[in-house]
Amino acid sequence: MPTNANRIPLVDLRAAYLRQKDEIDAAMQAVVDNTRFIQGREVAELEEAFAAFSGSGHAIGTGSGTASIHLCLAAAGVGPGDEVAVPAHTFIATAEPVTWRGATPRFIDVDPDTGCMDPDALKAGIDGAKAVIPVHLYGRPADMEAITSVATAAGVPVFEDAAQAHGAEVVNADGTVVRAGNYSVAAAFSFYPGKNLGAFGDAGAITTNDEEFAATLRFLRDHGSVRKYEHMMVGFADRLDTLQAAVLAVKLTTLEWCNQRRRELAAAFDASLRGVGDLTIPPATPNRRSVYHLYVVRTGHRDALLAHLRAAGIEASIHYPYPLHLQPAYASLGYRRGDLPQAEAWAAECLSLPLYPEMTAQQQERIVAEVAAFFDKA
Ligand SMILES: *Cc1c(COP(=O)(O)O)cnc(C)c1O
Repeated sequence: MPTNANRIPLVDLRAAYLRQKDEIDAAMQAVVDNTRFIQGREVAELEEAFAAFSGSGHAIGTGSGTASIHLCLAAAGVGPGDEVAVPAHTFIATAEPVTWRGATPRFIDVDPDTGCMDPDALKAGIDGAKAVIPVHLYGRPADMEAITSVATAAGVPVFEDAAQAHGAEVVNADGTVVRAGNYSVAAAFSFYPGKNLGAFGDAGAITTNDEEFAATLRFLRDHGSVRKYEHMMVGFADRLDTLQAAVLAVKLTTLEWCNQRRRELAAAFDASLRGVGDLTIPPATPNRRSVYHLYVVRTGHRDALLAHLRAAGIEASIHYPYPLHLQPAYASLGYRRGDLPQAEAWAAECLSLPLYPEMTAQQQERIVAEVAAFFDKA
């Protein structure tokens, strides 16, 4: 068995903490000292800083990425009898809030190259939908230009699931660069610990350029209250903790560096893994700049390669092993194997290699060597 020191985790949260330990400790202590644990000034500061980072007019802190999606749907009036189009290849949290609203997810097949929602499949499946939620999967923006044009033609609002895509960018036809979260009514971000910007627990945010929508979201996340004990509407308890906001504000100061490191490491993986075995490396999409939340390859030998890497102490993983339309949780919707073939192929073949900003060149070389060794044997 590999020793602990030789283990390469999928993400190294401890390395990220140690890199900014003193500042993070001081920021947390300041909140403990002032005891403004709910809606402290650090929440508003983080919201302002994250809006600036994303190039959005407003950011609203929330309790999680899932809560962010739910709040967007609630603010948009999604309710019983409605259907919402979501990709079939994503984390279940893209679809769950649809179900919480009493609405039904309509699963859309994905692009074979990127794994993101396929605009042509959306076009075939958008009629009558109340909303569309594309996912910027693995940190790469979905094809927002095509998706927006399909949705606009159908008169259906779009909400981005940007849980994996803090700082990801779309380059428009006219050369302007737009960050994830500005291509729709509003975008849901997650600050789950392992995300590109991760808190020390559950946390999230919504970005929007619509002031009225932002105001509704602020009510909804906090019991519908304008002032304490004065409630405009029936809301939720989905606030961002002050302690998490304080941690996130420190970590946000190095997020550009983190995303740059992820891109460099991804480029190095691309160069070393291209042509190895039957691997498909992530596609080059120059107009949709990924922040590589995950580095995901595809192979027909996925399970054997995963077992080989795990035995060598390399904690590769699968995102995600079952497409949503075939999950037991959604069995009642009546989808069958074969209904969404591209999503099913992704689930069967995708493999996430470890990637995090603090990864060393030696660690990356070891991963590449083990992948190559697997295919040499095969
Ligand atoms: C992480 C994630 C979510 C949910 O975020 P939480 O903060 O864990 O609730 C939603 N969608 C996608 C694509 C995610 O990766």
